[in-house]
Amino acid sequence: MSKDVMLLSSVPTFMMNDLQQEYVLHDHAHILDPEVFTKVTAFVGVGSAAKVDRNLLAMFPNVKMISIFGVGYDGIDVAAAKERGIQVTHTPDVLTDDVADLAMGLILSIGRRIPQSDKFVRNGDWVSEPFTMTRKVTGTRLGVVGLGRIGQAIAKRAAAFDMTIAYTGRRAKTNAPFRYYPTASELAANSDYLVVAVPGGDDTKNMINAQVLKALGPKGIFINIARGSVVDQTALIQALKDKSIAGAGLDVFWDEPNIDPQFFKLQNVVLTPHNGSNTHETRRAMADLALANLKAFFDEQPLLTLIPECQ
Ligand code: NAP
Repeated sequence: MSKDVMLLSSVPTFMMNDLQQEYVLHDHAHILDPEVFTKVTAFVGVGSAAKVDRNLLAMFPNVKMISIFGVGYDGIDVAAAKERGIQVTHTPDVLTDDVADLAMGLILSIGRRIPQSDKFVRNGDWVSEPFTMTRKVTGTRLGVVGLGRIGQAIAKRAAAFDMTIAYTGRRAKTNAPFRYYPTASELAANSDYLVVAVPGGDDTKNMINAQVLKALGPKGIFINIARGSVVDQTALIQALKDKSIAGAGLDVFWDEPNIDPQFFKLQNVVLTPHNGSNTHETRRAMADLALANLKAFFDEQPLLTLIPECQ
């Protein structure tokens, strides 16, 4: 089988180096030779940036496998891929701890206003006035929207902060020792911190809307480490502006990295650049898994981490 692989997005340099040693790489924006479209048998790309729709698949008749670097694959038209018998893999588990760590970091950052405190000290403001009081984290109520791998890892960390944990999702989990609320609004109404950890895509689009934010209330803090699409961002910015929620810690946004500049003026948000899995160790582990899936495909071996829809 031809070892022609198309890149759906840029990938980390170390992964690019590994890919170049094994495969003939193509970037679909720069394919000049029409024969390449028939030579490519696999795609590889970063989860949040990899976009594969029906039209793209139609251009590559011999693609049989898509290896995603990341756990989320909301940019892939999975139904169209399955119709063609294309197998899709992702990199679950290896990034769970880092994303949960960042969620806790955002909870502490916005609750205790750590970045704002840093700015206050650097600006020399401390000599003139004390810093405003912040919000307690230990012993408060955490609501988790989506108690999957990352949601559970956040709950584990929050338990060490004596937080009372509750969750929502498509259904109650029989093995979860936490209170279940059937809707995000009910969960929000009973949370001090509300963190989202569901996948992106049509099913979860705007699931955190104005009604959920209203239920979270003026003392509530919202954390998003999932996908920007999960939140009605217009409603979120409005809620932050009129203080109908206390604040937000956001790692993901609509239209990354060109995020809405209204965020820059808000003092009640902490913003990070889609950093959930962004550690040396985890990015290496994700690359190893994405490369191992690709190798298994070309060696005609079972793929290691198929997305649930392809299992
Ligand atoms: P996971 O184990 O599949 O967990 C997802 C959870 O969401 C499950 O509890 C699932 O419920 C729930 N869910 C799915 N669809 C839902 C819906 N329509 N309504 C309500 N709940 C729904 O996935 P994970 O490994 O924890 O990853 C979660 C997401 O985090 C990824 O998809 C990705 O978008 C995001 N992520 C972000 C970063 C970052 O850098 N910020 C890094 C990695 C991942 P069930 O139990 O009912 O299936």
